[in-house]
Amino acid sequence: MPNALNLDGIALTTEQGQWRRAAEQVARDVLAPHAADVDRYGEFPHEGITAVREAKLLGLMVPESLGGPGGSIVTGMLVTEALAKGCASTAMCYAMHQSTVPLICSLVDDDQAERFVDPILSGEWLGAFAMSEPGSGNRIWHMDSHAVEEDGGFLIDSFKSFATSSGHADFYLVPVRANADVGPTDLSLFVIDGKDEHIEPKGVWDGMGLRGNSSRPVHFNGCRVPREHRLGEPTAGFSFMMAYALPIYLVGLSACYLGIAQAAFDAAVAHVKGRIHSDTGRSLATVETVQRYVGEMKVRIDQARAAVLRVAQMSDNATVLFDEFRESELLDEIVRENPDDPYFVELAALKVMAAETAVAVSHMAIQVCGGVAYRRGHVTERCYRDARAGSLMAPSDDTLKVIMGNQLLGTPQPWA
Ligand SMILES: Cc1cc2nc3c(=O)[nH]c(=O)nc-3n(C[C@H](O)[C@H](O)[C@H](O)COP(=O)(O)OP(=O)(O)OC[C@H]3O[C@@H](n4cnc5c(N)ncnc54)[C@H](O)[C@@H]3O)c2cc1C
Repeated sequence: MPNALNLDGIALTTEQGQWRRAAEQVARDVLAPHAADVDRYGEFPHEGITAVREAKLLGLMVPESLGGPGGSIVTGMLVTEALAKGCASTAMCYAMHQSTVPLICSLVDDDQAERFVDPILSGEWLGAFAMSEPGSGNRIWHMDSHAVEEDGGFLIDSFKSFATSSGHADFYLVPVRANADVGPTDLSLFVIDGKDEHIEPKGVWDGMGLRGNSSRPVHFNGCRVPREHRLGEPTAGFSFMMAYALPIYLVGLSACYLGIAQAAFDAAVAHVKGRIHSDTGRSLATVETVQRYVGEMKVRIDQARAAVLRVAQMSDNATVLFDEFRESELLDEIVRENPDDPYFVELAALKVMAAETAVAVSHMAIQVCGGVAYRRGHVTERCYRDARAGSLMAPSDDTLKVIMGNQLLGTPQPWA
């Protein structure tokens, strides 16, 4: 039931309002006070993640059938945006964790649910999603590394070029080719325990922005993974990733960039109201050019929020469809070659739009704040650097535009 709690004109259900308020409280009380140091020193946001664990946000998307609260993609989006307003690094760790949850939940059997889902639900497990490989880069549907079957399980030797929460995650979800003889999209999905001593995070993450999220490379250097840590059928990984990870992944990233835009806007508004020039005796808020920028930022943010919400709702609807075909080969057909369905185009367009919005809004926010915002440590300059990751994270915005073009023009996708 919608209630009166209102988010910029969007009516939330009571449950959505409760999750949103919980995330806002975490962002206000814990994330925001640590955000500057997390950024300055490139520190993993331990305090923030602990608060996220304690607020039970890590298990939000575990479905009711597995004992969870059954949070929708819309609810996930509301939570991620709220966290990103406090600290984008923490929100990105959260968004990548969240991207693993529906996928794991869609594939686990009863034993695996106890082993993997219960600790996510209790808040004990934060996940990383290690997809990107040095060879294929942002083309994350293509893996070069593969699993080797051996007695009782699999040997995984896979170098991943980036993984948010690398070295800090309690588990890694790792897609690789099912074996050496299959194609680059015939993927198996493995849950690898974060304590495995053959996991080797490489170097120090020293990013331009999102400096706390430890997105450094990680080498699964001969991990011996028990059979029961493989999810689903040997080569089902690609279609399940497209159906159950891509929607929450792209909506989650978009929510994160929306939160960054909102944080830049809020900081800019506070600054211009308080900045008074001695010659005029008036605040920057009375300057028409500044007023116009504020209006333009608001338009961009509202457009992005409406788009994120709409595509999040579409994604929740799409999940119902994917569930219907989960057990059949039709799932693969739907996600690989369904040129008449605009859903994946909308999803791709959303991430491009949200990333562009965050860069544009934080750029304008710096503009109205002036030289003080060019100094390291101002919220708007941090937002600008955080936002810049948006168009690069996989699939990069350029790749997404090509994929959209393929779908709209009926030309083959790179994975077909
Ligand atoms: C902050 C951050 C966090 C990340 N977290 C994760 C994570 O948790 N898990 C994970 O798996 N990965 C993660 N990544 C990696 C990310 O998702 C991309 O895979 C990575 O940024 C690709 O970088 P690359 O240098 O290999 O790009 P490349 O693949 O070499 O691409 C470089 C550029 O070439 C252009 N380009 C390449 N291919 C095409 C194409 N087909 N069509 C059009 N243009 C193209 C684009 O402009 C692209 O930006 C993260 C990256 C960052 C920056």
